[in-house]
Amino acid sequence: QSQQAQPAHPVFPVEVGTSPHPQVFGLRRAAERLARKLGPRRIWHVNSTPAGGGVAELLWSSIARQQSLGLPVGWLIADAEPEFFQLTKRIHHGLHNRCAAEFTAEDARLYRDVTARSAKQLLEYVRPGDVVLLHDPQTAGIAPHLLDAGVKVVWRSHIGTTERGAAVAAAWNFLRPYVEVIPTCVFTIAGFAPAYLSPAQVTAVTPSIDPEAPKNRDLSPQQCRELLRRAGLTGAPDEAVGYAVQDQPLPADAPVVTQVSRWDPLKDMTGVLRSFAEHVPTGHLLLAGPDPADIPDDPEGAGIFAEVCRMRESLPPDVRRRVHLCVLTLADQTTNALVINAIQRSSTIIVQKSLEEGFGLTVTEAMWKSRPIVATSVGGLTAQLVDGSSGLLVDPTDSLAFASSVNSLLADETRAARLGAAAHDRCRDRFLVDRELGDYLNLYRTALD
Ligand code: UDP
Repeated sequence: QSQQAQPAHPVFPVEVGTSPHPQVFGLRRAAERLARKLGPRRIWHVNSTPAGGGVAELLWSSIARQQSLGLPVGWLIADAEPEFFQLTKRIHHGLHNRCAAEFTAEDARLYRDVTARSAKQLLEYVRPGDVVLLHDPQTAGIAPHLLDAGVKVVWRSHIGTTERGAAVAAAWNFLRPYVEVIPTCVFTIAGFAPAYLSPAQVTAVTPSIDPEAPKNRDLSPQQCRELLRRAGLTGAPDEAVGYAVQDQPLPADAPVVTQVSRWDPLKDMTGVLRSFAEHVPTGHLLLAGPDPADIPDDPEGAGIFAEVCRMRESLPPDVRRRVHLCVLTLADQTTNALVINAIQRSSTIIVQKSLEEGFGLTVTEAMWKSRPIVATSVGGLTAQLVDGSSGLLVDPTDSLAFASSVNSLLADETRAARLGAAAHDRCRDRFLVDRELGDYLNLYRTALD
């Protein structure tokens, strides 16, 4: 997986290559039919970053597999200035019912102008009749321009909530002129869709993971140890990989409770830290996330990471020595993925204490690795895990319930292993990439009809 250097704010392509592990024989015939229907036309995916976060993660493996099926699928990045990503982050929070701020006329102008510019640049690659899948609010504004140019447009929102608060309404209203005209909009759960879309415009597709990708493939205990060392958790770090903030190396034999996330307020890394420090008397806590500097469309990362560091510093020494932070660079995505893989496999319990979550890929990744999981009963997480059988779900505002669930699994290895095994089976049956590939082929076919 190579990432091109990122120039300032234009649209640029990502070279994905084909998947070395196409497990797609059942889909080959459908892909051949689709390729014939496409003729000289192409399929494109457009989002705002090639690395960091779940959408980029999904696109790497999904596009590689589509290319290995012989489909002409390309990936374009619509980059933008920081102000634009600050605005889209507010929209993102609004769609999770979290942002009280009003959107101004200036916001509307910025959104309209930047997406119009991106559309113009995209049309240097995209031809009339091509199918374009736009991902997330950063790209929705591009849709009307592409539709005007005779392009077939599908928009996929990876975020959302079934809650219907004022913030959700404001964010959907902000996007309305753009989203309303798109013939097919894809949501993780149909109930995330805004009321102004007709049922015929709404499709539901759950995201998936690639079991053969560096993030998920089997690793030996020795490989895991070496990767944890390179991340700085158990020895001298490899600067190109990451570093740890800790008083002592992560012990090899102690239970480890881990959350892997971007440093985003909705992931509640601070809440995990507080709950662990106050209510979990044994084991170690590991909070791992990307270097905020590597994620241009997530401007809040540096502030949240600094806050987590401050909170850790202020803990009593006997608690602080059980809390480890790990920051991973995205410079080499394959190594980053392998380190996350090793961290997840080496953890006793994986937690995801999100305040809102469209769909937590980190949870699906942990399910595949048969980890016992404690997550919150919000958004897509409730579709991913069945409380009490494939994981434990708790109220996101109940810090004590979260800690009790963690404590109960730390104390009962048999139950923890049973939950982990059930999580793996559920992931195998529902959340692997070939299932999503079939969903994409259906979407392309519908867009071409
Ligand atoms: N991730 C990563 N490096 C990190 C932290 C996270 O590659 O340092 C990955 C993580 O493994 C997962 C994705 O980023 O594949 C996060 O997806 P998720 O759906 O959990 O959350 P999002 O970031 O999209 O809100």
